[in-house]
Amino acid sequence: MTLTMNSIWPSADDWQQRLRDAITDPRELLAQLALPPSLAESGHPAARQFPLRVPQPFIDRMRRGDSNDPLLLQVLPQVAEMQQVPGFSTDPLAELGSTPRNGLIHKYHDRVLLIASGGCAINCRYCFRRHFPYQENQLGPTQWQEVLTYIRAHTELREVIFSGGDPLVTTDQRLGRMIADLAAIPHLTRVRIHSRLPIVIPSRVTATLAAGLTATRLQPVLVLHCNHPQEVDAEVRDAVRRLRDASITVLNQAVLLRGINDRVEILRELSETLFSAGALPYYLFVLDAVAGAAHFDIADRDAQRLMAELQAVLPGYLLPRLAREIPGRPSKTLLLPEHAVEKLAVDAGTGSL
Ligand SMILES: *Cc1c(COP(=O)(O)O)cnc(C)c1O
Ligand code: SF4
Repeated sequence: MTLTMNSIWPSADDWQQRLRDAITDPRELLAQLALPPSLAESGHPAARQFPLRVPQPFIDRMRRGDSNDPLLLQVLPQVAEMQQVPGFSTDPLAELGSTPRNGLIHKYHDRVLLIASGGCAINCRYCFRRHFPYQENQLGPTQWQEVLTYIRAHTELREVIFSGGDPLVTTDQRLGRMIADLAAIPHLTRVRIHSRLPIVIPSRVTATLAAGLTATRLQPVLVLHCNHPQEVDAEVRDAVRRLRDASITVLNQAVLLRGINDRVEILRELSETLFSAGALPYYLFVLDAVAGAAHFDIADRDAQRLMAELQAVLPGYLLPRLAREIPGRPSKTLLLPEHAVEKLAVDAGTGSL
């Protein structure tokens, strides 16, 4: 790969330093934001179960003195997490039943998901993996050979998705080697990375990462995870530009979260901001029913109403697909915008198209 002149690439160890330096003490975070330490005390039991973790570049985008800041609410442990809510469980996606090999999830016909890393740079309170037994799903050298054998044997597979945790917590060298191994399997055509790292630590987008992603015949796709336009600053824009300069397709998935992005103006600005930065909206997920996250939940009907409002103010290519994951289905399940649902019902009733 040739690196274009207009990109300035960060040094390889900058992101690792920022990863190590992530803030894990709620009181330290609150002090930085000029908020009272009492906001942390109430969250302590939740913080023991799933600790606070947030890198400095993400904190730098939070508003000082605002306890309802949409970025802060995504990471600060809350007492509400300790409530037991019927229907919210520790394995909402029933993933524990569909791992044919350690570290590999094959639920959809032509693509497999790899748990490439157990760790994350940030702990998002709504995360559906907050209870996932990563320790049992580590990809060591032996497991990796077993994964390759599985993928080789399944000729229906076209795409391998690196997930986690966050797969970009892994080194560029390890990732590059894994992609090279995959490129030797003839029926694969694409490699996809799902990562929040380019958002929370933009210097993660290094020259060696871009080189590793583009070194083989496999077409690279990177799906960002950004929930709110305030998460996109100049550093994030530069990171997305570097990916695009390397000819990597950049998409975004978001999660619809009560009190954070559940307004049409915010979702509209999110799509506009992402596109101006070089990323296309892909999915907007309704929350998985994971224990501890019920206070972020939005009813399907409200989500579908929001989508109808969003569709009225955005071009089609800036509309994310509203979707949820239902265990046992062969793909994500799309939720139609509300007016579309009503229209289909009316048309079905009159027999017209
Ligand atoms: C979400 C998911 C995928 C990817 O689905 P796309 O619709 O292709 O984005 C693949 N495998 C598993 C197990 C998933 O949960
Ligand atoms: S997997 Fe994604 S959503 Fe979950 S904690 Fe890690 S970065 Fe956040």
